[in-house]
Amino acid sequence: MVDLKSQYENIKDSIDSAILDTVRSTQFINGPQVKSFTKSLAEYTGSKHVIPCANGTDALQIALMALDLKAGDEVICPSFTYVATAEVISLLGLTPVMADVDPKTFNITSELVKPLITSRTKAIVPVHLYGQSCDMEGILKLAKSNNLFVIEDNAQAIGVKYTFQNGSVHNTGTMGHIGTTSFFPSKNLGCYGDGGAMFTNDDDLAMKLKMIANHGQEVKYYHKVIGCNSRLDSIQASILDVKLKHLDEYSAARNQMALRYDEVFSTVEGLEIPKRQENSTHVFHQYTLKTNPELRDKIISHLKENGIPAMIYYPVPLYKQEAFSHYVDPDFEIPNVERLCKSVFSLPIHTEIESSNQDYIIKEIQNFFN
Ligand SMILES: *Cc1c(COP(=O)(O)O)cnc(C)c1O
Repeated sequence: MVDLKSQYENIKDSIDSAILDTVRSTQFINGPQVKSFTKSLAEYTGSKHVIPCANGTDALQIALMALDLKAGDEVICPSFTYVATAEVISLLGLTPVMADVDPKTFNITSELVKPLITSRTKAIVPVHLYGQSCDMEGILKLAKSNNLFVIEDNAQAIGVKYTFQNGSVHNTGTMGHIGTTSFFPSKNLGCYGDGGAMFTNDDDLAMKLKMIANHGQEVKYYHKVIGCNSRLDSIQASILDVKLKHLDEYSAARNQMALRYDEVFSTVEGLEIPKRQENSTHVFHQYTLKTNPELRDKIISHLKENGIPAMIYYPVPLYKQEAFSHYVDPDFEIPNVERLCKSVFSLPIHTEIESSNQDYIIKEIQNFFN
C-alpha cells in the first residue's frame, strides 16, 4: 500500500548518517535528537508544545489520563475508525460512545455528535480519517457550549490545514485541547519502528502530559501521579527529523496520485470517489473509494489476482467488535456505518509513485468494470 523502500532509497544518505550519528553518540534515550525533532515538529504544526511518546495509542491514552476523568464518564468517538481510538477510552474505565459518521467525508460532524451528549459526557475524540480534517469549527463550538474536552486523533492527517470561517488557518491536531499522532512506518510521517506525539497549546496540560508519559514524575524519583513509561527513542527521532523536511513533498505526491485516480474513477459507473471536506486540505493517508457492497470483495480479489494490494479500512464497526459488545445492545446498528464497512476499499497511494504503476492499477480497475 505504501512504497517505503523507494522512499528510503531517495533519502538514504541523510537517513543513514542520522542513524549512525545517533548510534555513535550512544544517547539512545532522550538524546538531543528527540529535542531537535520535537522542536521542528512544533514549528511545522504551529503547536506551542509537542510531547513525544512511544506510539499513537499511548498518545491517546496519555491525553485522556491528563483530563482527570472518572470511571463511567462518557467519551464520544466515531464508530468508523481504528480500534485504538476507542480502546484507550475503555482501558481507562471510561465509556466510549460511538458516533455515526458522514458517509461522504467518513468523519464525525457536530450534528452527529450533538444528540449523543449526556450529563456524563466529558470529551469528544474526533478522528481526521484518511487524511482530512473533521468539521472542527462545529465540533469545537459544540464542545465549548457543553464544557467538553476535545482530543483530536490526528494519526492519519499530519500536515492537514483547516480554515475557520474567520479565515484563520490551523493544523489538525492543534485545534482541540490536545492532539495526538502516530509515527507508525506506514503513517504519512512514519519512522522505522514505533513512535507518537501529543500536541497542546496549554502550558498546564503540556506539563501534565510530559509528567504522565514519564512515570508521573517531574523530578526524578518523586512521583506525583500514576503515569506510564512512553518514550520516542533517539534513533526514531533522528529519522523523523529528516523525514519531516520532506513531508510537504510527500503530501503533494499523494495528492497528485489522488487527483489522477479521481479523474479516471469519477467516470466509472459503480465507483464513488472520496469527497473533499469543506475547509480542509487533504493528505490522502488513504485513497478510499466506495462501491456497491456486492461488488466490493470481487474488486479486491480481482486486484489481488493481478498483484495489486487493496485494503478495507475498516471492515467492522467498533460497536460490532466483540471487545466492545458490552457497551451496546446486541442489535445496535448505525446504517451509514454498516454500509461503509461493506462498501469502502483503499488503493495504494505512494510518495514516490512511478506513473506506470498507477496506470497499471487504473487499468485493472477499468478491466473489472468493463
Ligand atoms: C495508527 C492509528 C492509531 C494508533 O497509532 P499506533 O502508533 O499504531 O499506536 C490511532 N488512531 C488512528 C486513527 C490510527 O490510524
